[in-house]
Amino acid sequence: MKTSDIPSKNRCELLAPAGSLEKLRTVIHYGADAVYLGGREFSLRAHATNFSREELREAVAFAHARQVRVYVTVNIFAHNRDLAGVADYLQWLAGIGADGVIISDPGVLRLAKQAAPELAVHLSTQANVTNGQSALFWQEQGVAQLNLARELTLAEIREIRQNCAAGIEVFVHGALCISYSGRCQLSLYLTGRDANQGDCAHPCRYAYRLQEEKRPGQFFPVEEDERGTYIFNSKDLCLINRLPELVSAGVDAIKIEGRMKGIYYAGAIVRIYRAALDHVEQALAAAPGEPLTMPPLFMEEIMKLGTRGYTENFLDGPPTARDMCYTGAVVDQTYVPAGIVLEAGPRPLVEVRNRIRPGEQLEYMEQGLRNSPFTVTAVTTEDGRPLPQADSGSRVRLTTEPVLAAWQPYGLLRRVQAKADSH
Ligand code: SF4
Repeated sequence: MKTSDIPSKNRCELLAPAGSLEKLRTVIHYGADAVYLGGREFSLRAHATNFSREELREAVAFAHARQVRVYVTVNIFAHNRDLAGVADYLQWLAGIGADGVIISDPGVLRLAKQAAPELAVHLSTQANVTNGQSALFWQEQGVAQLNLARELTLAEIREIRQNCAAGIEVFVHGALCISYSGRCQLSLYLTGRDANQGDCAHPCRYAYRLQEEKRPGQFFPVEEDERGTYIFNSKDLCLINRLPELVSAGVDAIKIEGRMKGIYYAGAIVRIYRAALDHVEQALAAAPGEPLTMPPLFMEEIMKLGTRGYTENFLDGPPTARDMCYTGAVVDQTYVPAGIVLEAGPRPLVEVRNRIRPGEQLEYMEQGLRNSPFTVTAVTTEDGRPLPQADSGSRVRLTTEPVLAAWQPYGLLRRVQAKADSH
């Protein structure tokens, strides 16, 4: 199915990260309207499992069969040496039916307009659109959708939306940079890994101490506590409770960060935002103009995934000390992944992600926000041989009590995290 077969957007689009084909299938299963992913060529996120050309073709076919759009990142900050082959690549992406490319470099935009004018171009957050004139500039260059800089208030987003015809996209969830939307040399200096080539080692999360050069080993007392001072360490972004205002402001797409995150996180977070966005759209349609407060269950589901702490970042004004994580990386995950459904049926075929044993309680994450608990009564090989346990990576059939009707391929199973494992 080509781009033109997918109905045009008339709702706020849920745009999800797809770091691999498996994650792409999972986030689509849990309700993404569109996915973004990187090819092996000309894309940031060098450590994500970027897609080969064959995989890109497969990704587009899989997504389009389910009416989901695919945007491909071509978001390097290009030097001259990087440009050879970009035009051919863009033409190739247009040929396989990609719904758009995400760029940050005006030179790559120029090449895209020359080589593949039919290909929609979206602007990456790294182009740092912070004002209406900048938005109009990019619109005049033929950019169809702008991912605004993360350093904007809701009022500024609203103003830009009102004065610009291009689509407006806003990051709503995921890791934050302490620097300006990812333009940062810290990682390159400290680890040799360049954030501007998609290879950040996140040294802003490290614990820092101050040392005077002539006093090796003596640390100045600048720590917040005995573990050090996390001077750069931002909490993660979470705007789930602000979706009513963002949708009312006319934002065209909400984007979730995390192409390098695991499949469980990606599927679970997309599931929550899908349910939340549907809730907001229904509630706003039923009572237009009425203030809407998000029910707590969405945030409760997010908290199950573990967190370093959440912030709404700049939405109400510049972040303060409250938006920083001074006590180190705290992950308080209450559930861990157990498996992925490969085949539905009364005895589903499951790919195991964490050892599964007969007798244990698991939970199936249905589409929507329903979680169905069940007990594993037997584990067998695909051809029916009983197993005492199923190890990570194996494919097994589960017999469960109760027998669930809800199984679907790409659905996720999880278990409550044992207390001793939680840190
Ligand atoms: S080191 Fe931190 S601030 Fe710099 S690019 Fe990486 S995540 Fe962003």
